[in-house]
Amino acid sequence: MPSKEIIEKSEKELFKLMFPVGSPVVKEACEILSDLIKIDTTNPPGNEIVAAEYCKKLLEKEGFENIEIIESEPGRGSIICRWKGSDPNAKSLLLLAHLDVVPADPTNWERDPFCGDITDQYIWGRGALDCKGILVPELMAAIYLKREGYNPKGDLVLCFTADEEAGGELGVGYLIRNHFDKVNVDYVINEGGGFLLPFGKDTRDYVAQIGEKGVAETKIRVKGIGGHGARQLKPDDNAIYVLSKVIQRIIEFQPPIEIQDSVKETAEKISLPGIAKKILTSKRLIRPALNLAEKLLKQPLSKLIIPLVSDILNPTLLNAGKKVNVIPQYAEMTFDCRILPGHDRETIKGYLKKALGKKLFNKIEIIPIEPTQLATINSSKDPFYDLIEEIMNEMHPGAKIVPMLSAGSCDTKFFREKGVYCLGFIPLRYDFNPNMSFGELVEMEHGANERISIKNLSYGVEFLFRLIKRF
Ligand SMILES: [Zn+2]
Repeated sequence: MPSKEIIEKSEKELFKLMFPVGSPVVKEACEILSDLIKIDTTNPPGNEIVAAEYCKKLLEKEGFENIEIIESEPGRGSIICRWKGSDPNAKSLLLLAHLDVVPADPTNWERDPFCGDITDQYIWGRGALDCKGILVPELMAAIYLKREGYNPKGDLVLCFTADEEAGGELGVGYLIRNHFDKVNVDYVINEGGGFLLPFGKDTRDYVAQIGEKGVAETKIRVKGIGGHGARQLKPDDNAIYVLSKVIQRIIEFQPPIEIQDSVKETAEKISLPGIAKKILTSKRLIRPALNLAEKLLKQPLSKLIIPLVSDILNPTLLNAGKKVNVIPQYAEMTFDCRILPGHDRETIKGYLKKALGKKLFNKIEIIPIEPTQLATINSSKDPFYDLIEEIMNEMHPGAKIVPMLSAGSCDTKFFREKGVYCLGFIPLRYDFNPNMSFGELVEMEHGANERISIKNLSYGVEFLFRLIKRF
């Protein structure tokens, strides 16, 4: 929890901002976010078109032109609004956010997940952080500038899309494949970064997502001898027993640590003592040091840092048998595999070989589920990156933008694959969340009681307003 002194200091800094909490623009942003949360876009089925139409109406009312809703499938609407720039040679910028949300189980929530309640400090509901709470600052900043009579030099594209939470094939994936001309730009800004890191007393390090790990969802199938539940089989003929051995070996296996350039870039920039930087880039020290630091600092460090230096294999689904008196012919386990840049399915296969040993490895069949998505990454050396750092320095003096590979994956990958320069960066400060730890903030995305503080929402509007104007 940030100290009282830091909170007071940040209050003073906020006072200098154009869009402080309580200003009409921020009030409007709260209302829009509340409305959007109330539109249930749980994916599946998504039905994002209702939210897309809501945005379209707002934009039309403000005098925007070139607004289009594109449906990849009935109800799976994405909205694109291209604000034409005055100079066709100037660089163009696309503000990306997704309209869909993950399911919410109301039994775990303090409020209805789709209530959109606005309290003194927070706006509540699924999507408040991921990603309607990003969409609204993007929208509001553009609306405010339009009202001011501002005209962008290069095209400014607002693009709010369907299906991100299920991989994005019916949202950005569809747009890129079928309507690339409509979303073709030089730069993209999206979710995935902007978090103020919780290290140190008065930290000013913000993370920028410069890349995303790849996804190689994999199923393992073990075949056995099926039959009547009353028969006695040797353990090695019962697919469930064999799979349990496989699982045990995988639990004991750790994918190797690999210090890639992105981690070196992170270490170079991050405000940590030299020894911590050394550990972060040391293949040998990183795991034991993180375990120790975790105990001392009581922060979920391994969870956050290990995915940056290692492939992650997480079993997520198990499947065997249909009836209690029938021995199944096979047993299956499915993994969510997240791979580092340069890795692919062969890497995963190599891990399984190593973990299982020859005999057990020969008993499994490896089945890819979805097509492999390789990791995508761009450098932090770009004027756009520098501009973001400059703006954050005005908003939070001393701010440093720390480049980082993202453990997860979002829609930005589709643009990076096309060679567009992308950053995941919308500022989010944990010290702007009254009575909430950093850990709680991290758990809220896709978890229970998702909410965004009004301070953070206003901070997002402020940042995007400055970014568009200075781009
Ligand atoms: Zn998201």
